[in-house]
Amino acid sequence: MFYPSFCPNPACVYHSPKILKNSTLLVPFVRIGTYYTQVVGHVPRYRCKACGKTFGIRTFQLDYYTKRSLPYHSLHQALYSGQNLSSIARLLHCSPASIQNRIDRLSRNTLLIHQHCLRTHRLTEDLAADGYERFDRNQYFPNNINLTVGKDSQFVYGISHATIRRKGSMRSEQKAKRKVLESQWKPPRGALSDSFSFLIQDLSTFWEPSFHPKLTLYTDEHPAYPPALRKVPFLKEALTLKQFSHTQISSKLPRTVCNPLFPSNYIDRELTKDIAAYHRESVCFVRNVNNGLSRLLCYLLYHNYQKPYRIHWGAIRFPSHAQVAGIPLERFKKKLEQVYVERFFLTHEPLTPLWEALWFRRYKTPLKKKEEYLPKYAFRGYTQGSIK
Ligand SMILES: [Zn+2]
Repeated sequence: MFYPSFCPNPACVYHSPKILKNSTLLVPFVRIGTYYTQVVGHVPRYRCKACGKTFGIRTFQLDYYTKRSLPYHSLHQALYSGQNLSSIARLLHCSPASIQNRIDRLSRNTLLIHQHCLRTHRLTEDLAADGYERFDRNQYFPNNINLTVGKDSQFVYGISHATIRRKGSMRSEQKAKRKVLESQWKPPRGALSDSFSFLIQDLSTFWEPSFHPKLTLYTDEHPAYPPALRKVPFLKEALTLKQFSHTQISSKLPRTVCNPLFPSNYIDRELTKDIAAYHRESVCFVRNVNNGLSRLLCYLLYHNYQKPYRIHWGAIRFPSHAQVAGIPLERFKKKLEQVYVERFFLTHEPLTPLWEALWFRRYKTPLKKKEEYLPKYAFRGYTQGSIK
């Protein structure tokens, strides 16, 4: 029978599962009957003896507050196999909005698993970083999705996003249209450089020079990268002490495994073939920046933690990219087993600014005037249950 392992009220002393384990109180929660829902029938309800709040089992589930249960595993599988939202919606007999809603929920669980692993991880490999150019809404708003990838493991460490100005040759009517659109919404100046600095700043969470004394970052020859790196405060000292070096490689070199940019090229290829919105010359593209990033996060759950690093002859399977990067399986196995069922709590796993931007949907969508919608349960300090 289900028994709560913590109190969902963030202000309660029993909110941390660790405190409950060491608690002297034998029964901190009492069952106080059930309530009926049309989705799953009767739901048991509990009261916390410490704070007096009441809550149901649904509070702890990924499907908290949903009006219909959808199979997360099938949905996720379809997403990383290149199906678009409408296609998954047809498969599961629901609306594309319901699919996006479940993807958002899953992406928040992914964020917390990833942050948990990074917070306790010590980097032992070099990194490659690159910006993948796609577009959001229409081709007048190209973006740069910056990713840091492990050189040996191809584990994706970080993601950031920047909308940039459309460049390249354009016909006169295209230039006129760009002018009209830019009068309504213009990408911020230096967005690419700021986004790259923001991404690299997160290295301080898992890179310690005592574990990996000489870290090399491989990028292509984009002129924005060296000034962006100089803007990162903790790198200034590392650059002076020669603990950190930046090597730029021509992106015209053959894209083989011997190329130091192989990790970036590899992930670029995987994203292009596996995510519907990144297929080239198709009708699938990202309409909302934060929704697109949620899908990317769900893809990273698969790439980093579920997919084997390599498969030989269809039979010999290597461990996941995370394990190759040096993250022990025990650190994420339990969470991975529960990722489609349990709801992970933000208050149990504080996020760094890089991941907070994704959780709180802080990236701006071109031409969007309305504020981004953030569900109530995703707010910081949101109090679950009701006081009775
Ligand atoms: Zn409580």
